[in-house]
Amino acid sequence: MRSPLAYLSALLSPAPGRPAPHDHDARLAHMALHDQETGLGNRLSLERLAAGGEPVYVILFGIDRFEILRSAIGYDSMASLLTTVGHRLSGLCGGERVARVGAGILGLVLHADDDHQAVQTAARLCEAAQAPIILNGAPVDISLTAGLARTGLSNRAVPSPVDRASIAVDQARAAHRRAMGFDAERYGDPAGNLSLISELMAALGNGEFSLNYQPKYDFRAEAVTAVEALARWTHPRRGCVSPDVFVAMAEETGHIRPLTEWVIHQAIRDQAELARAGHSLTMSVNVSGRLLSDESFADFALAAVKASGARLCFEITETAVVANPDVALHILERFAEAGISVSLDDYGSGLSSLTYLKQIRADELKIDKSFVLGLDDSARDALLVKSTIDLAHGLGMKVTAEGVETPTALALLRGMGCDMAQGYLIGRPVSLSDLVERLGGPARKATSVA
Ligand code: C2E
Ligand code: MG
Ligand code: MG
Repeated sequence: MRSPLAYLSALLSPAPGRPAPHDHDARLAHMALHDQETGLGNRLSLERLAAGGEPVYVILFGIDRFEILRSAIGYDSMASLLTTVGHRLSGLCGGERVARVGAGILGLVLHADDDHQAVQTAARLCEAAQAPIILNGAPVDISLTAGLARTGLSNRAVPSPVDRASIAVDQARAAHRRAMGFDAERYGDPAGNLSLISELMAALGNGEFSLNYQPKYDFRAEAVTAVEALARWTHPRRGCVSPDVFVAMAEETGHIRPLTEWVIHQAIRDQAELARAGHSLTMSVNVSGRLLSDESFADFALAAVKASGARLCFEITETAVVANPDVALHILERFAEAGISVSLDDYGSGLSSLTYLKQIRADELKIDKSFVLGLDDSARDALLVKSTIDLAHGLGMKVTAEGVETPTALALLRGMGCDMAQGYLIGRPVSLSDLVERLGGPARKATSVA
């Protein structure tokens, strides 16, 4: 196979019979360093500028909503638009060479005394370069976001300053800032995350996962009547990996189903063991919203419940229902028929729309801990919690408050007519054996709380 350079050379070769013009090499060199659509420099040209001598700042300017804009105005107009912005930026920087580094990204190098000055200059350049652009007589509004990286610094995770600046554009957008320098801490360790993903499946099979149980206290029964299973991953080298990390990761990579199936199997086994110790408790399991569009997951859950007679409650969050309501509602109906109750977890933390409550027939609503933690000091939070309890009761749902940490919060919730409480005051998540010990022997089924 021919190398890309040989291919390019053949493409540019003069027609047979004609003498090779002297500028053949010059044309080749020009092509190697320029973007064909806009005539601006390309990534290689920017890398060369950045690599020359003293430390400089690489600044990349991302055209915001680039893809939407390109489908609205077309590829040709987009190329003109990029060329115009490129020339504007060059003019603003005393003729500095501007390169096109990605589809909607332009870049240049800048000298500045320090990071602060570089970021301020980049922000000013964005403001100055984003005046409307006239294309075929019509003004097109654009906005720019800048990302910066200083050359001469070593960064093992992202060695190229152009790559660092490109990541900084995304970071600036996420932080809703006009311009921002590369933030290594915020970037984290994606390579490490990647290896964690591949380790997750093996970890399920080799005993690195376990379940902790957190009690749910019933105000009326004055006893713990349910527990919530919370997954724990003890990694041999990294130690405890937070569920916020591995659950999000499993959701993104399609591993959430095997993880949840493992949790359900283990929770059912542990529920039977609790029953043998004299504690008949409902078992709550967190079921990621994504699984509510997976009918075969529902088949699995129904079969597991049928085979064991387990009393399960699935705690779900609203995302999937909002994304795919018809499928989710059908699956939730199947759960209800099989006797699996459904709880709306973290209520109040997301969109929590009335449409959501109207669509979903849940048995329980769990008020997010962010409101419950503020109960002691905030009259506003107290009002919101009380109104939510009344709303849920009106719709025939029981209410659990999570994040109960103080006796005051517990007393307030009792007074508001809340049905269940969960939180560090009642009990932190613990292993099965610690839970059994806490609950006491068969004679002390009811665990009373202050
Ligand atoms: P969640 O379902 O809302 O679980 C409650 C979280 O709040 C737990 O964190 C628990 O330890 C913590 N918590 C409980 N009481 C208190 C309290 O009084 N104060 C405070 N500040 N925090 C309290 P954890 O175990 O780190 O779990 C975090 C999240 O990870 C869970 O939130 C749940 O969404 C998810 N998760 C855990 N296990 C699983 C699982 O097996 N499957 C899925 N899909 N998600 C899971
Ligand atoms: Mg939960
Ligand atoms: Mg929750």
